[in-house]
Amino acid sequence: MKITFCGGAGGIVTGSCHLVETKGKKILFDCGLFQGSKEVEAKNREPFLFDPQKIDFILITHAHLDHIGRLPQLIKEGFEGKIFATPPTADFTRIILEDSLKVLEEKSRRAGVMPIFAPNEVEHVMKHFEAVEHRQSKKLAWGLSFKFHDAGHILGSAVIELEAEGKKIIFSGDLGNGVMPLTPPPEKLNEADFVLLESTYGDRNHESISESKEIIENAVEDAVARQGVILIPSFALERAQQIIYHLNDLAERRRIPSLPVFVDSPLACAATEIYRRYSKYWSQEAKERKNTGDDIFAFPGLKFTSSGKESKEINGVAPPKVIIAGSGMSQGGRILHHEARYLEDENNILLLVTYQAAGTLGRKLADGEKTVEILDQEIAVRARVEKISGYSSHADQRFLMDWVKNFQKNVCPADKNKPGCLKKVFLVHGEEQSSATLAGLIRDEVGVEAVTPKIGEEIKI
Ligand SMILES: [Zn+2]
Repeated sequence: MKITFCGGAGGIVTGSCHLVETKGKKILFDCGLFQGSKEVEAKNREPFLFDPQKIDFILITHAHLDHIGRLPQLIKEGFEGKIFATPPTADFTRIILEDSLKVLEEKSRRAGVMPIFAPNEVEHVMKHFEAVEHRQSKKLAWGLSFKFHDAGHILGSAVIELEAEGKKIIFSGDLGNGVMPLTPPPEKLNEADFVLLESTYGDRNHESISESKEIIENAVEDAVARQGVILIPSFALERAQQIIYHLNDLAERRRIPSLPVFVDSPLACAATEIYRRYSKYWSQEAKERKNTGDDIFAFPGLKFTSSGKESKEINGVAPPKVIIAGSGMSQGGRILHHEARYLEDENNILLLVTYQAAGTLGRKLADGEKTVEILDQEIAVRARVEKISGYSSHADQRFLMDWVKNFQKNVCPADKNKPGCLKKVFLVHGEEQSSATLAGLIRDEVGVEAVTPKIGEEIKI
């Protein structure tokens, strides 16, 4: 059996893609888009590190673009097999791919190249999907099967467990941080021969979720007192729903006064509908609230504004009000119009609830820059800027270590060949420093070999 690390490895966080070859079959874990710097994104135009026609199956962990974004290319280049994913992941894939088209077209236009996929190709991708529920074993061939377990990262996200040649390979995908109110914590697994573990936050810990909720509560109270506007740039998937969930909770318990809250993003509106449809994937807490008759995505004042016309009408609503809009790092989307309009007023508050990558407008605002350019206008930032880190949908160092330690009881250095005994951990999906720090900790505290493979590296297992 052989694994080739084709993306989301060797210090690159995006482009998740790993190839397992076993029993004459080729299985791909994820097929993600490279995102970030120009050099990283250039990889999307390089040939795949394998022949797409020879791939038999694809297993998808979740529908973030850096895990599914190259599926249309793969199909265009001859992949004819099945793509397995949980039902929510299949539904999210469609809206995420469709939503990404506009941004990809714009980028290609600027670069003077053809977009990497066209609108009609999304439908071609969807025809290959076959839904598989969490914890349901699926046979691919004789002696070759897989199971999805809940990864607790976004709704329906999965950890892959592949069984082949009598060995178990676990791919964590993106692992949740275990404290999110809406998504259940990642399932604890304890038997594997090899683990591929994400390491996005391999060198850091997050602040607690209750602190984050408190910052939101205080900001809303403050904005009401000052008749201000709260702007929340947010990812449309998971983060927006988490914020709505917490605002709903605060409103239901009368911890915050009633005020208009706008979810101003067509993608967030579509994603919330999918969240509603799949309540069986919610956390226990969210399910219990639903059973008591609480609609967790509705409270007085909350309005989803999908159309451009509805979005413009927000301007006419007198403050106080809350506006949640994409993109999460203020790199585009409707949030820019609101930031241009409201950041100059000192009564307003900008709440940054997602990670802000270097070079983005969001990062400049997080760093406290007083003058920024938005939509070709110079904007003097007088609004208060607050940063919240507790909403991360990625496990932090502490949680990653706890999760991987579940395999510890099966670490048996005396008999390395025993099936089910953890032999090696591969750290993927992290910047170099993060992956290396986590690898060191795993070697020390779990007592097992831990390595950080490079893109293109083939390892026989
Ligand atoms: Zn993800």
